[in-house]
Amino acid sequence: MPRNATTMTIANPLLADWTTPFALPPFDRIRAAHFAPAFEEAMRVQRAEVDAIAAQADAPDFDNTVAAFDRSGRLLGRIEAAFQALAASNTSPEIQAVQRDLAGPLAEHDSAVMMHAGLFARMDAVHAQRHALSLTPEQLRLVERLHVDFVRAGARLGPDQQPRYAEIMARLAQLTTRFAQNVLADEAGFQLELSGDDLDGLPPFVRAAARQAASDRGLPEGAHVVTLSRSLIVPFLTFSTRRDLREQAWKAWVGRGESAGETDNHEVARDILRLRQEQAWMHGHASYADYALANTMAGNVSSVNNLLDDVYARALTALKDERDAVHASLRDAGVAAPFMAWDWRFGSERVRQSRYAFDDGEVKPYFSLDRMVQAAFDCAQRLFGIRMVRNDAIPVYHPDVVPYEVHDGDRLIGIFLHDNFARQTKRSGAWMSSLRLQSRNGGVDLPVIMNNNNFAKGAPGEPTLLSFDDARTLFHEFGHGLHGLLSNVTYQRLSGTSVLRDFVELPSQLFEHWLLEPEVIARHARHWQTGAPIPETLVRRLQEARRWGQAYETVRYAGSALVDMAVHSRQDKEPPADLPEFEAATLARLKLPPEVGVNHRLLHFQHLFSGASYAAGYYVYLWAEVLDADAFDAFKEAGNAFDPVVAARLRQCIYGAGDSVAPQQAYAAFRGRMPSIEPLLRKRGLLPEGVEY
Ligand SMILES: [Zn+2]
Repeated sequence: MPRNATTMTIANPLLADWTTPFALPPFDRIRAAHFAPAFEEAMRVQRAEVDAIAAQADAPDFDNTVAAFDRSGRLLGRIEAAFQALAASNTSPEIQAVQRDLAGPLAEHDSAVMMHAGLFARMDAVHAQRHALSLTPEQLRLVERLHVDFVRAGARLGPDQQPRYAEIMARLAQLTTRFAQNVLADEAGFQLELSGDDLDGLPPFVRAAARQAASDRGLPEGAHVVTLSRSLIVPFLTFSTRRDLREQAWKAWVGRGESAGETDNHEVARDILRLRQEQAWMHGHASYADYALANTMAGNVSSVNNLLDDVYARALTALKDERDAVHASLRDAGVAAPFMAWDWRFGSERVRQSRYAFDDGEVKPYFSLDRMVQAAFDCAQRLFGIRMVRNDAIPVYHPDVVPYEVHDGDRLIGIFLHDNFARQTKRSGAWMSSLRLQSRNGGVDLPVIMNNNNFAKGAPGEPTLLSFDDARTLFHEFGHGLHGLLSNVTYQRLSGTSVLRDFVELPSQLFEHWLLEPEVIARHARHWQTGAPIPETLVRRLQEARRWGQAYETVRYAGSALVDMAVHSRQDKEPPADLPEFEAATLARLKLPPEVGVNHRLLHFQHLFSGASYAAGYYVYLWAEVLDADAFDAFKEAGNAFDPVVAARLRQCIYGAGDSVAPQQAYAAFRGRMPSIEPLLRKRGLLPEGVEY
């Protein structure tokens, strides 16, 4: 198709210079129809950049090849980031169609770049002489990381294999897109309407959230619905005395992606697994897990399984007491055995209330979203000296998004967008992403970082009240956000969260620890109506009650991670004929009690199947928890949760370093030694006090 680049640049806001504040995407002018031509042009531009690097007459060196490659593809990068933001947080049928149509071509473009023979020959040449080039440590790291990227993307495969490899990558991109869209459709399509005694047992905050969800979905005033949004369905399962409705809600929740029809993910997941197996074999690995783990801190399947097996076995033992208590409580409540997965949370909450005289509804008024956001910002200020300054002139893609400038002293270091509420056009879960990564390779790029949560919005005129777990999620994502905002590297490839994937949860999980600090709670947890601080006795009960149910959470999480490892460690060509059956058999082998259930079922397990970043990688949270539990001890040892010396080292070695230093080295530089697993086991209540591990 003939194209006139000049007129298109004027007509298409994605291709024009962004003259908005801080050069954010001009969301108000971007339409879905702009993306296809903009992507096409941006891919052409990057191909030209890469061809030019490859065609240079000068011998390959660090700057003309490696740094030049790091500078390439910026136009595509900014368009892709804007697109991903809309696709994840404010999608539409038109955006979804673009996503389906372009998943393949974008993956083909990536393959063409990463398998560009002339470019890789130069990369390979620089890599071969890297120790003789007087490079800085960061430059050396960049050469090595990029070389790994190229090899893992197929640059070393023979010309007879490369077309097939590119085809696999394109097909995987299409299938993972479809998987995610199917889950979103099942989530958006479900609602359980409640009226009269359907509401039995639900405390006021759950009723309010259900009323708000109904009004968001255009139902008449006074209607209540339960949706599959985590911050609504979990409290519903916890408090509803209606076993029949709990069963309905539970089955819809765990059945996402599983129902026959257009959104059925069964064959989609099998196709993904079959192609991943072929991909791994082309690289000479026996299984996809072997391929995936070769590029991690863990390094191989057995070190992951060792950690998971150890923690799972301890948690299963610890679960016995919890299980007895939950069963007794359910019997006491008149629930007939056999107990089912939709009964556990209900029984568990009754135990929590009777043992600790504590319920979530009691603390919620002290954990309003606004106050918890302030708490997270305040912790960042006390640790790292940065200030968040709201600036509504910054363009956003939805009125719920709150934009901030991030200041370090008198220096602007980045932009932060906070998108906290659930809506039907947003995918479930919570995540950090970026519109721009920090770097200073050929111009200074300030990071533009986003946090998405899925909190159930408070009714009009009322605040959004968080559960303690919601507040933890808020801190978690803000920890990732800080990893992006505090990034202080030269090269974009090494920026912020672009680290090995089993290191990436360290900054996020570590930041959760500050929410648990009594002094943080005392300062920020204040009643939304009266402003009164949370009573100390309630904090104590909260802390004690939090110890309850740890085995349940650990067993469910580790069970899911072990299913992930099992499904990706297979070495045969054909995936299991029936994935739910494979999952059930794996869990039965693990002796996971059926009334416990797992965090995610395979057919909606987005970590594994929408994109590949957590495939054979759900374990990373536990891996990082070994690190974060051990890392926070550094503050405890200093006797101050905000110790300035430890905090400065933390910023330099972890939050600011991105992937410019190998993770083992970065950790050792922060802690003075490698991590120990003991703090993790203690934190999860899996290590009896006084026992040496
Ligand atoms: Zn995370």
